[in-house]
Amino acid sequence: MRAVVWHGASDVRVERVADAALFDDRSALVRVEASSICGSDLHLYHGLVPVIPGTILGHEGIGTVEEVGGAVRRVRPGQRVLVPAVVGCGECSSCRESYVVGCEQLVAKVFGVSPLLPGAQAEMVAVPAAEFNLRPIPAEVSDEDALLLTDIGPTGFYAARNADIRPGDSVVVVGCGPVGLCALQSAALFSPAQLIAVDRVRDRLEAARRFATHVLDASALDVAAAVREVTAGRGADAVIEAVGSTETMRLCFELVRIGGTISVVGVLIRDDFPFPMGTALLKDVTVRVGLVNVGHFLPRLFGLVRAGRLSLAPLVTHRFALEEAPQAYRLFDTRADGCLKVWLHP
Ligand code: NAD
Ligand code: ZN
Ligand code: ZN
Repeated sequence: MRAVVWHGASDVRVERVADAALFDDRSALVRVEASSICGSDLHLYHGLVPVIPGTILGHEGIGTVEEVGGAVRRVRPGQRVLVPAVVGCGECSSCRESYVVGCEQLVAKVFGVSPLLPGAQAEMVAVPAAEFNLRPIPAEVSDEDALLLTDIGPTGFYAARNADIRPGDSVVVVGCGPVGLCALQSAALFSPAQLIAVDRVRDRLEAARRFATHVLDASALDVAAAVREVTAGRGADAVIEAVGSTETMRLCFELVRIGGTISVVGVLIRDDFPFPMGTALLKDVTVRVGLVNVGHFLPRLFGLVRAGRLSLAPLVTHRFALEEAPQAYRLFDTRADGCLKVWLHP
């Protein structure tokens, strides 16, 4: 089959690789109809996350079930399914407590970051514990919405839920990439009075205008001063970090009010990050950080999409054939031409 393979920083290639195969009798094989590129793939693309050369990339994919293992009953060949970015065994206490990223049995829980769980930017993808992980796509949910529900839709909702937003609050979302735009939409569901979007790419700030009450261009103004002005000097009740950089992490501590909450979904794999203890202490701040547990949020998000309260499909701005993945990576990385989500079809 053909797949997008990581060879090094800025070096992804479409290659012929061995066909994906069932892991065991609880797994399934999905023929991928579309996959996408996430900001998390960019951390690999930038060489910031160690990857074994030859790893098949991608953790966002939808498709049709091709084959199931002998113990699989509730998933059938021919079913239209969504492959969640993170998977678990479905049996351990972490999986049962709905934090599959902490699964005690599976070694690899995120697709496309190691050869143990090859990714969805391919013609086929093998999925462990298929009955637990694979989700049939409801008939009223479009392919585009389903694709964005594999990761970034749930991530945005998780970010907003973790931000403790109450009606009338002031909320800042730092980063208006696809994840930040999903977080803005989700934050709006909790009825904040001010919803402030921060980025430094003009097209993305324009996209944020649909959901935000204020948009702040971090390349042109002092964001902390602007947030103080919008919040009458108090700072924001909740700040969502959807970038994943030391600079924006620090900014969140500046923007949050005393007693407020910082909700981090941006991926910053730096255990040596200097947590600003002094500021946190003086501000009585709550900080939540985590990886989204996609499957846990899907029933609720299918409902929100069907009710028209969450609109993800318009984030798909560009379409490419799988062969053109290197070009798609370059475009998504440079954020040129209003690119938000790319649709890769094998
Ligand atoms: P993206 O790279 O497309 O978007 C990042 C945005 O941040 C861009 O629009 C960029 O202009 C903006 N930005 C960068 N530096 C900035 C600064 N100093 N000030 C203001 N804005 C700045 O990525 P994405 O797909 O939207 O993903 C965002 C983050 O979420 C990534 O770190 C990704 O790894 C992470 N992520 C986390 C989870 C999770 O489960 N926690 C899931 C999916 C993605
Ligand atoms: Zn992702
Ligand atoms: Zn488990």
